[in-house]
Amino acid sequence: MKIIAIGRNYAAHIAELNNEKPSQPVVFMKPDTALLRNNAPFYYPEFSKDIHFEVEVLIKINREGKYIDQKFAHKYYEEIGIGIDFTARDLQSKCKEKGLPWEIAKAFNGSAPISEFVAKEGHDLSNLNFSLKQNGELKQQGNTSLMLFPFDEIVAYVSKFFTLKKGDIVFTGTPAGVGPIAIGDKLEAFIEEEKLLEVEIK
Ligand code: MG
Repeated sequence: MKIIAIGRNYAAHIAELNNEKPSQPVVFMKPDTALLRNNAPFYYPEFSKDIHFEVEVLIKINREGKYIDQKFAHKYYEEIGIGIDFTARDLQSKCKEKGLPWEIAKAFNGSAPISEFVAKEGHDLSNLNFSLKQNGELKQQGNTSLMLFPFDEIVAYVSKFFTLKKGDIVFTGTPAGVGPIAIGDKLEAFIEEEKLLEVEIK
């Protein structure tokens, strides 16, 4: 399986990092070794001094497709979840400065904690609240109505370049409020009022 992630998909987050608003989705990938499941802890790596949380809504691809038409894109995912796109912001800034790829800053071991997936049915995907708490304090609060590129547009776009396969996971971008983590922190991520993910930083 592969993890596809979208950057710069919420205007307020683009502004907080002084990034340019993209005219097409910003796409990067993480390998399956980035996954953390079942609320497994995250071990702070020695190569960074500035790991940030980015809470994101996930969609799970349920069948193979490429060049998917946007109007059929909704048929390619039945389940949603919540995840954290851990980012080594110090390494990422250096990569960005030099125009280099981001993998070491984004795709390292454990950089993709994910929740269990739940049926999308019964959720309004165009108006979905999601949030992240750090040590009990609300840090990020997003609503999918504020995405620059909604789920179906993302699926259509990325499937032009990468054949999507059953089990692939898409991170759909983070809202404003990203911030650093520290050893000992407890992160909790929610869709609406439901806590779906918990990660301890060790
Ligand atoms: Mg992100």
